[in-house]
Amino acid sequence: MKLYSDAELAHLLDHPLFRLVAQTADELELECYVVGGFVRDLFLERPSKDIDIVVTGRHTIGGNIDTKGNTRNSILLAQALKKKLGRHTTLSVFKNFGTAQLKAGNTEIELVGARKESYSHDSRKPIVEDGTIDDDQRRRDFTINAMAICLNSARFGTLVDPFDGIYDLEDKIIRTPLDPDITFSDDPLRMMRCVRFATQLSFQIDDKTFDALSRNRERIKIVSGERIIDELNKIIMADTPSRGIIDLHRCGLLGIIFPELTALEGVEVRNGRGHKDNFYHTLEVLDNVARAGGDLWLRWAALMHDIGKPRSKRWDPAGGWTFHNHNFLGEKMVAPIFRRMKLPMDERMKYVEKLVSLHMRPIAIADDEVTDSAVRRLLFEAGDDIDDLMTLCNADVTSKNEERRRQFHQNFELVKEKLVAIEEKDRIRNMKFAVDGDEIMQMFGLPPSREVGVLKNAMKEAILDGIIPNEHDACVEFLKKMAASLNN
Ligand code: ATP
Ligand code: MG
Repeated sequence: MKLYSDAELAHLLDHPLFRLVAQTADELELECYVVGGFVRDLFLERPSKDIDIVVTGRHTIGGNIDTKGNTRNSILLAQALKKKLGRHTTLSVFKNFGTAQLKAGNTEIELVGARKESYSHDSRKPIVEDGTIDDDQRRRDFTINAMAICLNSARFGTLVDPFDGIYDLEDKIIRTPLDPDITFSDDPLRMMRCVRFATQLSFQIDDKTFDALSRNRERIKIVSGERIIDELNKIIMADTPSRGIIDLHRCGLLGIIFPELTALEGVEVRNGRGHKDNFYHTLEVLDNVARAGGDLWLRWAALMHDIGKPRSKRWDPAGGWTFHNHNFLGEKMVAPIFRRMKLPMDERMKYVEKLVSLHMRPIAIADDEVTDSAVRRLLFEAGDDIDDLMTLCNADVTSKNEERRRQFHQNFELVKEKLVAIEEKDRIRNMKFAVDGDEIMQMFGLPPSREVGVLKNAMKEAILDGIIPNEHDACVEFLKKMAASLNN
C-alpha cells in the first residue's frame, strides 16, 4: 500500500468529477466526503468500481453541523450534480432509502446522507436516523472501510480516520471500529464480510475480532441465504480461497452454513491404516483449480467433488478404507445443497453435478489401460465440459509422493493426447447419432416401445466401442443385423 499526505490525497482526487462535487457542495453549503471501499482501494492501489459519497448538513451559527435533513441534502446535491453533468448522466433517486445514484459512463456514484443506526436483536434491518460523519463512520463494518476524505474545497483531500484504519491497512489487519461483539451482533452479515475481505486482500483478522466471530456465529442464522452465498462466492473467487474457508471453519461459521463440507474433516485410523483428511484435500484441490483460472462453477465442482465421501466410507479388512461410489452419492448431494444455499438450480448446477459424477474417470482411465473406447466414452459423457473435467482431475492429484505424482501426470498426458486424437477422428463431443429413434421406428415399423430403446442403445454402445463408425449406412446395417438376431 501507499501512504499519502493530505496534499497528495488532494492531488490524487484532483479529477474533474471530484472538483465538481466539491464546488457543488460548497454552493449548497453542504459537507461531503468520499468514504468506504473507494478510500480503502485508493491506498491499496486497487481499482474501485463505485464511489460512495456521504453528505451531511450545513454549519449552524455556533459552528455545529445541522444533520437534520441529511437524507434530503444528499438528494439535493445529486440533483444539482446531474444538472451540471448534463444529459449523459442518469440520476436515480431512492427516496425511501435517502440515496441517489449518478451514472456517468462507467462511473457510478452513490450519494447518501450521513446516518446513525440502531439495531434490534432479531433483524439486521436497523433503525436509521440522520447523524454526523462520525456517526456514519461508527456504523461501518471495518476500520479499513471506515475512512473518509473530505471533498469540500476548504478541506479537499483531508483524511478523516477516527479508527486508525490507515494503520490497519498498513499492517494488513481486519478489525471492527467498535467492540466486535456489537458490530457483528448488530449485523451478522459482517462476519462473512470479515472473512471475505481478509481472503480477498490477504489480510489477517485481528484476534479480538476473530474471537467475536466465534462467539457470534449463531447470529448468522438471521441473515438471508442470498446474502451469505454472495459473500461465500466472493471468498471462493479469491486467489487462494482455502484461506477463507479455513477461517470460516476455525470460527465455526462453516459448520453452520455448509455442514456437508466440514463433515469431510478428520482421519480415522484402524489397524494402523488411516485415510487422507478429505477436508484439507478438498481445499488443496480448490486452490489448484483457482490457480488454473477456474471460474466460479468449476470451483464449486472442486469444493463438492468428494462431498459424498463421508457417506460412502467403509472399512474393508483386506483393502483398508474405501469410498466406493462417492462420486454418485456426491452428485446426488449437489441439488439439495444448491437449493438450500440459494445457488442457481439451472444448467450451472447440472454442470457441477456432471463434474462431481465424472471426476474420477480420467484418473481411472490413466491408472488402467488407456483404450480408445474408454476415452471415447469419457468424451461422449463430458461433452463440452471435457476440458474443465480434465482441469479438475489434474487438480485432484495432491499426493505428496513424488513418484506417484510423476506416474500419474505421465498417464494423464496420455489420456489428453488420446482425447485430442479421438476427438479429431470421431467428433464425439456433442455427438448426434447417425440414426435416431424415429428412423428406427420407421425402419422396422415399430411403435414407440422398449424394442426401439434396445436397438438404439445397442447402436450407441457399438459406436462408442468403436465397433462401427457413426455413419448412416453402417448404422442401418448394424441395426438390421441386430433386429434379426433379436427376432430369432
Ligand atoms: P467491494 O465493493 O469490493 O465489495 P466495499 O468496501 O466497497 O467493497 P460495499 O459492499 O460496496 O463494500 O460497501 C461500501 C461500504 O459500505 C463499505 O466499505 C463499508 O464502509 C460500508 N458497508 C457495506 N456493508 C456494510 C455492512 N453490512 N455493515 C457496515 N458497513 C457496511
Ligand atoms: Mg463497493
